[in-house]
Amino acid sequence: MEVFQNHPLAPYTTIKIGGPADTLIITHTTEEFIDALKNNQNITILGNGSNVLISDSGIRGTVIKNSSQSIEIIDTSPIPINFNHTYTQRMENEPDKYLDFSKIDYDESSKPQVLVKISSGTPLPFAINSLLDQGITGLQWFAYIPGTVGGATFYNIHGGTYHFSDYLESIEAFNLENGQIETFYKKDLEWEYEKSFFQKHPNLIITFVTLRLFKGDSVLARQVYNAWISQKVKVQPMNSSGSIFANPSKELCEKLWGEQKSSGWIIDHELGWKGKQVGGAQISLQHSNFIVNNGTATAKDVSDLITEIKNEVQNKFKFTLHTEIKFLGNFS
Ligand SMILES: Cc1cc2nc3c(=O)[nH]c(=O)nc-3n(C[C@H](O)[C@H](O)[C@H](O)COP(=O)(O)OP(=O)(O)OC[C@H]3O[C@@H](n4cnc5c(N)ncnc54)[C@H](O)[C@@H]3O)c2cc1C
Repeated sequence: MEVFQNHPLAPYTTIKIGGPADTLIITHTTEEFIDALKNNQNITILGNGSNVLISDSGIRGTVIKNSSQSIEIIDTSPIPINFNHTYTQRMENEPDKYLDFSKIDYDESSKPQVLVKISSGTPLPFAINSLLDQGITGLQWFAYIPGTVGGATFYNIHGGTYHFSDYLESIEAFNLENGQIETFYKKDLEWEYEKSFFQKHPNLIITFVTLRLFKGDSVLARQVYNAWISQKVKVQPMNSSGSIFANPSKELCEKLWGEQKSSGWIIDHELGWKGKQVGGAQISLQHSNFIVNNGTATAKDVSDLITEIKNEVQNKFKFTLHTEIKFLGNFS
């Protein structure tokens, strides 16, 4: 493992913002990851840093960047169980301008199943591609999501109409409180849009996940993967921390606008704030629910812009937008 003192964290995030960690440890295998978890205190975990905003003053204590990468096919003909497609709440008001998934969605739930065990630091794009190369499908819907498998589980990410939890079988986690590895079964935990059991239990650090995937049509799956990337690349800027705000509830939107609206639509159409800047942080011209770093942005620029958006929505419509990204370090 690599160990650095007083080391800048910005390079380890997609938005390229963040002050130093007192100690940064980069682990390359699960053994190293568990070792680092056992032998340090005051720990913050970083996957690929694609859903975080790290403070300009950095993070006190030890940051462990999890770069363990392994994929193991553990059972090629498990007893099949019904695929539970939960349908995500993600939506776009202008699919022709943003993302239209309806034309590339299909059902593969009748295909033979396969169980695959993946270490939590494995980058999602690597996992998808390497599984497709082996004829294993299911994860193609999560194209162009720059996180690790651990981050995908922690956030229960969504792609197209699917949640990551639709494919989870079980999760192994290191319990910081007792130093033990514990196994959790997907069916015993609650999963919601962008929410998982692990967000409520920060003492549990995900080390491995076992996914129930398909021996499906990998040529079709790769077509979907590529088609989805070519749509997303136009509207989801990589120099960001992903979507800033969750969409407000359907009930609230129906009261205000007669139909469900996305946070991006509200910022764009109701505030007219597409392109608005605070310092080097800007509401993306590609998609108003993304804030990009124009090269000089600080975490304070981004958090001030987020606060301005929240205040404006609160003043105009009397509700609070819920921030999806995780703030790490001190923002007071
Ligand atoms: C261009 C772009 C497109 C995106 N598209 C999507 C999308 O379509 N759908 C979607 O849902 N998200 C999307 N995201 C958001 C983001 O990529 C996902 O949430 C991703 O899964 C985060 O994973 P990560 O490894 O980068 O986590 P990080 O940002 O590194 O960490 C996020 C949180 O997870 C915790 N964490 C990470 N690993 C572990 C672990 N092993 N155990 C316990 N806790 C852990 C961290 O402590 C932190 O609190 C997008 C982001 C970008 C920049």
